Formats: sequence, structure tokens, C-alpha cells
Amino acid sequence: VPVVPEEIEELRRVVRHRAETRIAPLIEPLDRSGAFSPELWSELKAMDVFALPFAEEHGGTGGSFLAFAVVIEQLARVGAVAGVYPGTTVQVAGTLLIHGTPDQRARWLPDLLTGEVPAAWAFTEPETGSDPAQIATRARALPGGGWELHGQKMFISFARQAGVALVFAAMDGGGLGAFLVEPGGPGWTVGPPVEVLGLAGTEAAAIHLDGVRVPDDALVGAPGAGFDVLLAGEAEGKVRASAVNVGIAGRAVAEATAYALGRLHRGRPIADRFPTVRALLGEMEAQVLGARAIVHDAARLVDQGGPGVAKVAAAARLVSGRCAREVTSGALQVCGAYGWTRDLPVERLYREGKFFEVTQGVAELQKIIVGGAVIAEVDPGRMAR
Ligand SMILES: Cc1cc2nc3c(=O)[nH]c(=O)nc-3n(C[C@H](O)[C@H](O)[C@H](O)COP(=O)(O)OP(=O)(O)OC[C@H]3O[C@@H](n4cnc5c(N)ncnc54)[C@H](O)[C@@H]3O)c2cc1C
Repeated sequence: VPVVPEEIEELRRVVRHRAETRIAPLIEPLDRSGAFSPELWSELKAMDVFALPFAEEHGGTGGSFLAFAVVIEQLARVGAVAGVYPGTTVQVAGTLLIHGTPDQRARWLPDLLTGEVPAAWAFTEPETGSDPAQIATRARALPGGGWELHGQKMFISFARQAGVALVFAAMDGGGLGAFLVEPGGPGWTVGPPVEVLGLAGTEAAAIHLDGVRVPDDALVGAPGAGFDVLLAGEAEGKVRASAVNVGIAGRAVAEATAYALGRLHRGRPIADRFPTVRALLGEMEAQVLGARAIVHDAARLVDQGGPGVAKVAAAARLVSGRCAREVTSGALQVCGAYGWTRDLPVERLYREGKFFEVTQGVAELQKIIVGGAVIAEVDPGRMAR
């Protein structure tokens, strides 16, 4: 019995092959240079990855979110950065589908869904990446209409490449606003890419907003409703990140197994000679299977809509995040000192395995979301008190 429907399994095979032949050669140079890769972006465009989770009526290819999660895992398997590249563009497009006006959708969706225009998601600031109440960027209402943005964003992926950015700011009149900004105009300055442990290819950078003017129709959602806009694609974002985690961890198992079969001690592969190595491989693979199962469950819930998705998506982030961190560490253990070198991909996987525990909603927040959901299932009133 296939774990996913046959058409998705077929897609998985095709993407796996293409990723291994066309994307894999790009990854090591990209990891070393830390620079954005136009070649990788073009490959993803050619594979129609950006359109995959969207219905045909919106310009998508009509795939499911489950199909998208399966594809993201395969991309991340060759390099986490490949699984991460579609993220912000798909997230802005998905948010516009929920909260955008017909004009906003008509203006941006065709270019976002083809990958023609990369989008940035500009929430994080120097003082917070987790708490919308602490957003300090201000949107000031201009007397003749429109808004002026003042503040600083931090760690914004594709800040240099984006053709549009969704910028979150506290509004005059209260509440959060989400504004579509075309980068590069007066008052918009991007800092140099931040030097990071891994996934440097998104060139995350600070954006300085010094009186950036946007018209009224740049506002996505109602004035002050930016928190709803922020949460609109929340579950999808978590499933995407979790699929990247599974891709990283799955690759780590493969690399560790290959090493354990090739490395000899007293003439025998360490996979045969040391039961502890075999047990570690078993523990790692079991974690990957468990994480993949919950990621698929969460993706199916996204496809079905309805309640419960927030809890399972947050749980998927937790389980897959721990899986990526622990399994990549296990892989490094199996490979010994060679795992510590840049001769094996395990070193990169080890750096990538921690990424989603500290970004895009830290692990602690996911625990609080799942815990809150469990309590609300027993006593709905308690969470409101
Ligand atoms: C390479 C890279 C790319 C990025 N790309 C983007 C992007 O495109 N767009 C964007 O907006 N951001 C982006 N980020 C930012 C990232 O998502 C945030 O940095 C992340 O959400 C964490 O925010 P923070 O560092 O402010 O952590 P903080 O909120 O300051 O948290 C610090 C620590 O405090 C604890 N903590 C925080 N909140 C809670 C809580 N509620 N309960 C318990 N403990 C808590 C946790 O231990 C947490 O790790 C990127 C970051 C990196 C490194």
C-alpha cells in the first residue's frame, strides 16, 4: 500500500531524479559561497514548484499541499536551501489568496506562482522574531491618503532579490498592518547578508525603512488586522518547514548508512561489526519515519481544511525539528571525524538540522500551541481566561 497516492509517488520519483541530477551539483558551491543562486531559482521555476500547491483557477498546477510537502522533502534532501527557496514566495501568494483584494491578486499572483518574481516576508525585527506585539516598525497615515513606513526589519530572506515584500508594521490607529511593498524605492535600504551557520543562500538581510511610502491599496487585509494576515498561511508554513526537516534527516540516514557500510574495522564494515552503529541507524530511521508520517498528516489536514490543523502543524514542527537535529547529530557520530570534515555532506546537514528550531516560530512556541490545543480540547473556556 503506498503511503501517498500513486500520482504523488510518481511526482516524488521524478523530483528526486531531477533534484539529484540538476540541483545537487549546485548545493556545495552555494553552501560555500553563501550567495543567492539564480541557477537554483531557475531550476525550481522550471519544475513549477511555486505553482504546485495552488488550484488551477488561481494559476496553480492544481496539486495538493501533500504533493507540495513531498516535493519539498525531496528538494531538501539534496540541500535544505533548495527546500527553503520556494517558502516566502509561496507564503506571500497563499496569503494574498486568503486576504488579498482582487486587484492585489491580479497584480502579483501570476508572477509569484511562476516564480518570476521572488517575494519576501518581512516580519522579524532586531528586537523580536516571535512576538507581533513587539513589532516596532510604524505605518503612519499620510494626510492625503497612503502610508509611510518607518523602522527596521531583520533576517529577511531574499531582501535583495524580492520583487515584492509583505511588510508588517504597527499602524496609526492601532493594530498590525501588512503592506505590499515594491523594494528599491525612496527610503528602502537593504543591508549586507547576515553571516549565518547554514542556509546562507537566502541572503537574509536587514531592511531599513526610512519613510517608505505606499498607497492605501498596498494594505493586505483590513486596517489593524495584520495579525490575521500573519497567521493566514501559518499551518502551511509549518508543514513546509517540517518537510525540509524530514528531507535533511532522511539524507543524513542515507549518508550515515553508506559510510557505515564502507568504513572497515578489522576488515568488517562498522555497520556489521558494531551493534551500537546498527542500533543508532535504526533509531535515526525510526525518527525519520515518524516525522514524515506526522508531516503527511498535517499536509492532509491543510488540504482538507477545518479544525485541528494548527495543533498538528505545530506538533509536526516539534517532532520534525527534533528529528532533524538528533538524526544529523547521529549521522555525524557514525561518520566519526570524517563527519566533522567538509569532505562529507554530513557536516552541512548537521548545521542545517538546527535551523527550524530557532527560526520561523521557535520550538518553544510550538510546544505552547500544542499544549494550549490539548487543554482547549478538555476545557475550551480555560484558554480564553
Ligand atoms: C537564515 C534566516 C532566514 C530568516 N528569514 C526570515 C524571513 O524571511 N522573514 C522573517 O520575518 N524572519 C526571518 N528570519 C527570522 C527568524 O524567523 C526569527 O529570527 C525567529 O522567528 C526567531 O526570532 P528571534 O530570533 O527574535 O527569537 P526571540 O523571539 O527573541 O526568541 C529567543 C528565544 O527566546 C525563547 N522564546 C521566545 N518566545 C518564547 C515563548 N513565547 N515562550 C517560550 N520561550 C520563548 C526561545 O528560546 C527563543 O529561541 C530568518 C532567520 C534566519 C536565521
